[in-house]
Amino acid sequence: MHDVRQIAGLFDMRADFVDAQPYGSGHINDTYCAWYDQAGIRIRYIHQRINHLIFKDPASLMENIDRVTAHSLARLLDQNHPEARRRTLSVILSTDGKPYVVDREGNFWRTYPFIERARGYDEIRTNLQAEQAAKAFGEFQKLAADLGGKRLNETIPNFHHTPKRLQALQDAIAADSFGRVRNCQAEIEFALSRATDCRKVTDLIAAGVIPERVTHNDTKLNNVLLDDVTSEGVCVIDLDTTMPGSVLYDFGDMVRTATPTTREDETDLSLIGIRLDRFDALVRGYLDSAASFLNRAEIDHLAFSGKLLTLECGIRFLTDYLQGDTYFKTKRPGHNLDRCRSQFAMVKAIEENLERMEEMVQVAAGSLKIVAAA
Ligand code: ADP
Ligand code: MG
Ligand code: MG
Repeated sequence: MHDVRQIAGLFDMRADFVDAQPYGSGHINDTYCAWYDQAGIRIRYIHQRINHLIFKDPASLMENIDRVTAHSLARLLDQNHPEARRRTLSVILSTDGKPYVVDREGNFWRTYPFIERARGYDEIRTNLQAEQAAKAFGEFQKLAADLGGKRLNETIPNFHHTPKRLQALQDAIAADSFGRVRNCQAEIEFALSRATDCRKVTDLIAAGVIPERVTHNDTKLNNVLLDDVTSEGVCVIDLDTTMPGSVLYDFGDMVRTATPTTREDETDLSLIGIRLDRFDALVRGYLDSAASFLNRAEIDHLAFSGKLLTLECGIRFLTDYLQGDTYFKTKRPGHNLDRCRSQFAMVKAIEENLERMEEMVQVAAGSLKIVAAA
């Protein structure tokens, strides 16, 4: 446990520190919830140590977060949103006016107001949760869509550049440093035969058909706080990977993580399938908030994006397997290969259902238009 009281003193809190405990189930940062006394009223804040082993440039990351959240809050206030300060994170500045502080050990810390009466869930249990989470991510993108000024910092370059991920796989195959290529011929063939899919979105971005936007890039359900009473998506959190990207990466990753019938490392491939009811919930929730700013090409590729992000993730697992399991934490020999197989089984499931999924997107988009015109 860090000396949170000492860290807290470096921020412009305007309230008296009472105490702090480790908080939440995040795997990346060290998160603390701290209680404060503000003129006799108890309020709490989140103090978070940024994992600078993963995020090598915390200052430029915090510049992104500060700009995006300040812009979103301004938009919400423009709209007279009754809960503006609960609908977006906002950054508490340090006593010297920075969006972060650095402690004696060189750790970077940030502070957010605590979003009350809402929580994130590690597992999606209902279609309502899926719908509300997707709606909240759409809302997040929408609020950030007209952010002015210079391009956001690319904190992890080429994060979702699928052709580069495929190239990395090809390099790992050529090197075959661990003699594992012979164990995964079928998976290699599966990936390489989908090179055209890998290029699709990056080509459309290069052609200007799909725009670059502000995207979240870690659209797991536990990164949206849902209202304790209504389950409404209240606030998107965990903005470390917010940077320039395509909305398709955000939506595709929701499909990848929220629609499978099994866990990410299921080894019985016969159990792996896509829950179409869950996909439909994601589409309806997402388009409810995002349809108003998306272009036609983005909407037309929503179903495909689920396939793309699942394929990309499988390629990354396979590459790590070939390179001796150095990037993803593994719990057993062959864990990365199992994960790859499960992702690729999911890709197959999506391919088999793609037409039906595309229909769902068009129906949802069409019904929204009727509402808008009415
Ligand atoms: P990680 O990158 O480690 O997942 P998160 O930013 O997602 O870090 O934070 C970890 C957990 O802390 C979240 O899952 C959530 O439960 C909680 N949390 C983070 N920020 C807030 C906040 N502003 N209000 C309430 N809870 C928060
Ligand atoms: Mg998180
Ligand atoms: Mg995170």
